[in-house]
Amino acid sequence: VPELPEVEHLAQQLRAAIVGRTVERVQARRRGMLNIPPDEASARLRGLVRGVERRAKEVVVRGERASAWLHLGLGGRARLADAAEAEGAPGALVFGDGGALLLEDVFMGHLHVLSPDETEARWQRSGPEPLASAFDARALAQALAQKGRASLKAALVDQACLAGIGNLYADEALLIARLHPLRRAGSLTDDECARLHAALCQILREAIAAGGEEGYVDLHGTPGRYRPRIHRQPRCGRCGSATQALRVSGRMTTVCPACQPAPDGARDA
Ligand SMILES: [Zn+2]
Repeated sequence: VPELPEVEHLAQQLRAAIVGRTVERVQARRRGMLNIPPDEASARLRGLVRGVERRAKEVVVRGERASAWLHLGLGGRARLADAAEAEGAPGALVFGDGGALLLEDVFMGHLHVLSPDETEARWQRSGPEPLASAFDARALAQALAQKGRASLKAALVDQACLAGIGNLYADEALLIARLHPLRRAGSLTDDECARLHAALCQILREAIAAGGEEGYVDLHGTPGRYRPRIHRQPRCGRCGSATQALRVSGRMTTVCPACQPAPDGARDA
């Protein structure tokens, strides 16, 4: 599932590829891909692409009068192609120059065309961006404190608490910070919050630079090079110990019993 690093990498590639081009129409073959009928989506978005940004796990394509919010869902990918190929794609932006941006293999993803007001509302809906300059260890402590007795893992993947983190990078950051996913979110000391903040920034920057994790394929067909240190790995990438798999809030979670001491009374939740 594409998380912050993959979506950030995609936003960077799209910025270079589509800013300044003109959207002619929006197409969707799959039901539920668009939030409004295709004709309406096309009418709203038609015009110049002014910018491309990322918010949480979505790419935001800024047009002249509306924005397109792209979510790759599970295993989806974005690809540039000729407009003729847009017909068969689950979702597509077709440009006036004969090219198109296709969304393919999208399961549970979407292409939503939103007005400026709707865009602002959706922008505010997610929690703080972990790589924003204003987001320091204290801001992380505040975000986690709001989650109180929830597990650390559940708090990290909650998009209203923190934007863009999913299953994979939560496990990676918790290993680097040497924190157990079943710790209570509100129980971290200042030192532990500082460690987790540093770990999140390190892992996310590293993964962006690597073009995302190995299962992700970028806009130009290149697979990511980020290899997980612990998520779904048999051995810990820090110390080499055998890892344990547990379910935390219904999510498959991998921990290292040597690097991540379990809290008292912790059970699989
Ligand atoms: Zn370890």
